[in-house]
Amino acid sequence: MPLTAYSTSQPGEHDVDQILKRLSAQFGQPYTSVDAIPEAWRDYLRRDLQCPGCFVTGAEVVRPAAKTGRASRQSFFRFTTPGHKPHCEFGSPETANAVPANMVSFSESRSNLTRAVRELVCTGIEQGVFSQVSIRDMREWFFNRKVESLVVVTLDPRLHKWLSDLQLAVFRSTGALPAGVTLTPEIAAMPEFDWHAEAARRVMERYTQHRANMQTIQNQRVPMFGDAGKRAESLAQRFQGQAVFDPTVLVDEYRKTCSLADFIGHNYAPLKAAKGGSGTVSVLAFSALLLFIRGWDISLAIADFAKIAATAGHSNQDLGNVMGLNPFHDYEAWRILKQMQDLNIVVPENVDIKSERMAMEVELRAQFGAPPMLDPA
Ligand SMILES: [Zn+2]
Repeated sequence: MPLTAYSTSQPGEHDVDQILKRLSAQFGQPYTSVDAIPEAWRDYLRRDLQCPGCFVTGAEVVRPAAKTGRASRQSFFRFTTPGHKPHCEFGSPETANAVPANMVSFSESRSNLTRAVRELVCTGIEQGVFSQVSIRDMREWFFNRKVESLVVVTLDPRLHKWLSDLQLAVFRSTGALPAGVTLTPEIAAMPEFDWHAEAARRVMERYTQHRANMQTIQNQRVPMFGDAGKRAESLAQRFQGQAVFDPTVLVDEYRKTCSLADFIGHNYAPLKAAKGGSGTVSVLAFSALLLFIRGWDISLAIADFAKIAATAGHSNQDLGNVMGLNPFHDYEAWRILKQMQDLNIVVPENVDIKSERMAMEVELRAQFGAPPMLDPA
């Protein structure tokens, strides 16, 4: 249930109030409240407006529920007949009043950076480089890509911790006896003998298959141990069993969008000066738009950008009343999730590597009469 809808007759994204004011002028009738919308207007809205997520028609205006002591919610649109297409971001009740995380309001002007992007968008529309229609078309393109390439989340959310424990054990085994060398009483008597490392190495020998998995992850350069890896873990938990967009189908588009966003962030003064630079969602959304309209040709997109940047600064701000799209929201985390899922690694039940390492060390020390472990491994 979106707050804005796309008008086919007046291409652009508008909220309930903006649309009713326009209809009032168009039909020459005053507009008093959302409760008293004439039937002719309602009929018009059903045909004219499209859901910003899946582009169905059949819009109805929904009055905000009045809450005492609180500012009432803004009116929004409902699409019940024929209803949203499957996998529309606005299809669930939770999104009644929220902008989906991958949508970017280009009318946003809260920071210097978003104001600068808004100015670029308005200038681009004024110059005819793109239009509200192309911005809408890009969202539709993405929606179709999404529903064509759905993948069910099956990644075990415990995998991240399991692999982190393994990784730590591998790291901890540095400096242990090489495989095949017997630990003798003479070696064990060395004052600096590293019992932690020896215990870690012996425990790791039990998990040959998993060490092979770790090697594969390293070879494929899956960056699973950073923040994006943690995020992938929580996405796996939250979306377990659900069909989601497979981000790997857009890997080429993602690479180009990041390059363009970096270029723009470094070579355009208003963005260079604004904190946040190229990484912010509005710059990514704007870059993706420039690429989309040029069939993902980065040379053409940069030429368009140079043209827009040369005259930006005096545009009609109302043109920015449009909802852009950052197709790469959480992209790294989704990609890690998909890559990890494809490896089909099974997390063993009831295994605690750290406890195993400690138990092993206690046992080894006892066997060789070494002093008991003081600091845990
Ligand atoms: Zn929809």
